[in-house]
Amino acid sequence: MRLELVTSAAVADYLTRSKGIIWPVGSNEQHGPVGLIGTDHLCSEAIARRMGEAHGVLVAPTLAVGQSHFHLGFPGTLALRPSTLMAVVADHLASLETTGFRRLYILNGHGGNVGPIRSAVAEYYSTRSLSGRHVPDGLIVRLRNWWDLPATDALRRQLYGAHEGFHATPSEIAITQAAFPDHIGDVSDTPAPPSHGRDDLMDHAGDNYAEAADFARRFPDGRVISHSGLARREHGDALLAAAVADLAADYAAFLASA
Ligand SMILES: [Zn+2]
Repeated sequence: MRLELVTSAAVADYLTRSKGIIWPVGSNEQHGPVGLIGTDHLCSEAIARRMGEAHGVLVAPTLAVGQSHFHLGFPGTLALRPSTLMAVVADHLASLETTGFRRLYILNGHGGNVGPIRSAVAEYYSTRSLSGRHVPDGLIVRLRNWWDLPATDALRRQLYGAHEGFHATPSEIAITQAAFPDHIGDVSDTPAPPSHGRDDLMDHAGDNYAEAADFARRFPDGRVISHSGLARREHGDALLAAAVADLAADYAAFLASA
């Protein structure tokens, strides 16, 4: 069930049965020579919407733009600064809690979002706790990256091993092939990514921080050791099925907790 496609009365009725909702978040950023710009938000959205349809769970409108400043050396990238992303997350938390939701499951599709989202949630609870204002049975948040879900993680490692890499990964490219076949077809003639030195990879892993121009200089084709050309549509079908099942199990555990 997509929140934007039902009435407010239907949401009120849903809240008598469940206080939970899923929110797919991602980014809109370059994904190397063959990946769609929207790959990160399209993947989390596809997984969340399939799970929501199968299990009658509400899914909030996708947050399609995230913290992607390091990809601004490539056209098509849109980026929110961390403070903007934190403000957007905080207002979603407040809106959902005020209107009766008590469990928010954030399904993330972009590594750069994790820090700001965690900080936004911590800020939300800190503001309340520091003011001494207690909300009985208030909103509880769970944040998961889709690729960390257990069966999905095992499958992508089995399919691609070290070729999965860090950006424009074959697993995310395969999911977009399965979900958007009219927009991305066969990519098997894509060459392997350039190899990189340890310093470049440390920078991308977040031990050092760099501007967009530096990223574009170090990773000229936009990929970070990910062999996107290994992606196949049938892999995407299997990864989607694994992720939907993983999400259903983790969401049920989340609702049952606390
Ligand atoms: Zn991505």
